Amino acid sequence: MKPAPFAYARASSVAHAVELLERHDGDAKLLAGGQSLIATLNMRLSSPALLVDINGIGGLDRIAVAGGKVEIGALVRHVAAERSAEIARHAPLIALAMPHIAHPAIRNRGTLGGSIAFADPAAELPACLVALDGEVDIEGPDGKRTVKADDFFKALFETALGPHDMLTAIRLPAATKDTRVGFAELARRHGDYAMVGLAATARAAGAGLADVRLAYFGIGATPVRAKKAEAALASGTIDDAVKALATDLAPSGDLQASAEVKLHLAGVLLRRVAKQLAEPRS
Ligand SMILES: Cc1cc2nc3c(=O)[nH]c(=O)nc-3n(C[C@H](O)[C@H](O)[C@H](O)COP(=O)(O)OP(=O)(O)OC[C@H]3O[C@@H](n4cnc5c(N)ncnc54)[C@H](O)[C@@H]3O)c2cc1C
Repeated sequence: MKPAPFAYARASSVAHAVELLERHDGDAKLLAGGQSLIATLNMRLSSPALLVDINGIGGLDRIAVAGGKVEIGALVRHVAAERSAEIARHAPLIALAMPHIAHPAIRNRGTLGGSIAFADPAAELPACLVALDGEVDIEGPDGKRTVKADDFFKALFETALGPHDMLTAIRLPAATKDTRVGFAELARRHGDYAMVGLAATARAAGAGLADVRLAYFGIGATPVRAKKAEAALASGTIDDAVKALATDLAPSGDLQASAEVKLHLAGVLLRRVAKQLAEPRS
C-alpha cells in the first residue's frame, strides 16, 4: 500500500519543529529515522497532513559523558550507539541491547529518540531506559522539561510527549565500577521484536546485589518493572525471584505467545540475567 498524501517540511531547529507541530495542531508528525513511521503511513494506520523532518536539526546526534551522566541526543542512530566506545564503557546495558534491535539496515536509519518516542511495548530501548532509571528531555510550546523514565511510558504507544512536543535527548547514569547490567530476550528470529525481553541493572554490594531494577518488555503495554522479584534478587534466592514474577507480571497473550508461555519465558530470562548480574564487568 502507499501512504495517504502528505506535505513535507524540514525543520531547521527544535523550536521550528515545535512551531510546525503547533501550527498543524494534532495533524503533523515528526519524521526521524522513518523506520516505524513510514510503515504506519504505508499501512494507513496513520495519515498526518504534514511530516516534519527533524534530521537536519544540528546538535542532536551527539553522545556526551559529563557529571556522571551519559546524554544521548534524539538523532543518534542505532548504529552510532552500537559502535560507540563511550556507550560501551559508560552505558553497557545499551551496548548489550543494540544488536537485538531489528537488522543492520534498520539500525542504520533508526534513531534512539524515535524508538523511545514511539514506545513500542516490545522494543528494547524503552525497557533499558526504565532499568537504568534514566530521564527524557522534552521541548514543547511551554519550554523544556525533563521526565523520569518511570513516568514517561503511560500506556500502549502513549508517553508523556504531548502532540506538540519533541524529545530532544535521553540521559542515563554513567556506569561505575559497582554497576552490574544484564540483558536477554527471546525472539523467533534474531532481529525480530521480542516475544519477551528483560533489561536489568544492579549495584554490587559485598557478595550480593543492591538497587536491582528489572524492566520487562513484550509483556505489557509499557515496560514493566518486576518489583517483588527485584527485592527477592537483592535479599533472597533466584528461585524466590522467579516465584515473585507471578505477582509482578500479568502478561496478556498476543500473536507470539499465550500469557502462560510469556510468564514462563519471563522466568527463564530472569535466570539468565541473574547470572549476568552476578558477574563483575570486565
Ligand atoms: C522490520 C523492522 C523491525 C524492527 N525491529 C525492531 C526491534 O526488534 N526492536 C526495536 O526496538 N525496534 C525495531 N524496529 C523499529 C526501529 O527501531 C525504529 O527505528 C524505531 O522504533 C523508531 O525510530 P525512528 O528514528 O525510525 O523513528 P520514526 O519512524 O521516524 O518515528 C517513530 C515515531 O516517533 C515519533 N518521533 C520520532 N522522533 C521523535 C522525537 N525526537 N520526538 C518526538 N517524537 C518523535 C514520530 O513522529 C513517529 O510517531 C523495527 C523496525 C522495522 C521496520
